[in-house]
Amino acid sequence: MPAGQDRAADDAGCHILHVDMDAFYASVELRDRPELAGRPVIVGGASGRSVVLSATYAARKFGVRSAMPMARARRLCPAAVIIPPTHGLYGAVSREIMGIFRSVTPLVEPLSLDEAFLDVSGAIRRLGSPAQIGQLIRRQVAEQQQITCSVGVAPNKFLAKLASVHCKPDGLLVIPVDGVRAFLDPLPVSALWGVGDRTGQTLARLGLKTVADIAATPPAALQAELGKATAEHLLALAAGRDSRRVESAVREKSIGAEETFDTDISDPGLIRRELLRLSGRTARGLRRGSCRARTVVVKLRTADFKTITRSKTLAEPTDTQQVIYQTACALYAGSGLSPQARLRLVGVRATGLVPAAAAATQLALGEQPVPWREAETVVDRITGKFGVNAVRPATLVEPREAGGSARHGE
Ligand SMILES: [Mg+2]
Repeated sequence: MPAGQDRAADDAGCHILHVDMDAFYASVELRDRPELAGRPVIVGGASGRSVVLSATYAARKFGVRSAMPMARARRLCPAAVIIPPTHGLYGAVSREIMGIFRSVTPLVEPLSLDEAFLDVSGAIRRLGSPAQIGQLIRRQVAEQQQITCSVGVAPNKFLAKLASVHCKPDGLLVIPVDGVRAFLDPLPVSALWGVGDRTGQTLARLGLKTVADIAATPPAALQAELGKATAEHLLALAAGRDSRRVESAVREKSIGAEETFDTDISDPGLIRRELLRLSGRTARGLRRGSCRARTVVVKLRTADFKTITRSKTLAEPTDTQQVIYQTACALYAGSGLSPQARLRLVGVRATGLVPAAAAATQLALGEQPVPWREAETVVDRITGKFGVNAVRPATLVEPREAGGSARHGE
């Protein structure tokens, strides 16, 4: 698509790219099956309980969408060819694609296996204008991986993502700085990031249908209906403003929590309970930072100030309390401390952090999601509202015999 090259003069100030593979898993599967090109193809398990992981555009014409139950997808498109996912393949292709992005700029923020934000401001002198860089990436992905992608080029993340959605599949779209208003105005309010069902209903009740309607609403009127934070957020997006930066790496090297007891503890049951609590805080910290940890570290300090640390690297990066706690208990049990040893401090730490998006492969490919993550994410939402004591594992609800005082970490 020549749009980017024709309009290269318009891309000044558009240093954010959103690059998104088109129907990623399906496109990768079709590389080895050229006879299926142009046909409706769905990647997913064949069983009735599995979901659509990816669908070609020919299948999407029938209403098939990602995450839809496979049974429903088959009813919508009985002619679709269903291909089971190939374990490990998409992650490998993803690493190659991210490598192409990183050859352009170190400022790459992966959102999932097949999409990322790039800040190309530092690459313009070397590689050309943002739109030219977008075309370069599209060419390299096509040549090296034989799949297509779409690129949004815009002054910020919010607009770049809208642009790539708008030009899919196999496209490139620049939203020029002086064309933001014209692009946003006719879009439905649902295009604004963060507008869910409830906000959408309120906006509909107010008769606000398009982004232009929101932009023309007096801030005070919007605040009265939606609250200050939501109103300000929507007005900023409706004006095309988004100050989020491209975050290229996980900043912290580790996340953890530790507890110094008021009185030394020797009861293994109490120590395990403390490990459970600290594992919960560590897991919450990981989820809040959108990262997962490869390694769990336990720190044990005895009454005579001897400090022991034990660590274990997991088969798969985790952000769940259950996995961290089970690992911590195994490390404690294998620490070599005598069962009567009195402890003055225990700590749990997660290291080897990776962005959750990069670690999400297994979840996307597995037939069963990790059940604890779903449960604990729900708990995050509740504790975010009501505080960390609102929901806790049953063993933590009993009164605490050993009063803890100094709390660090998180
Ligand atoms: Mg995609």
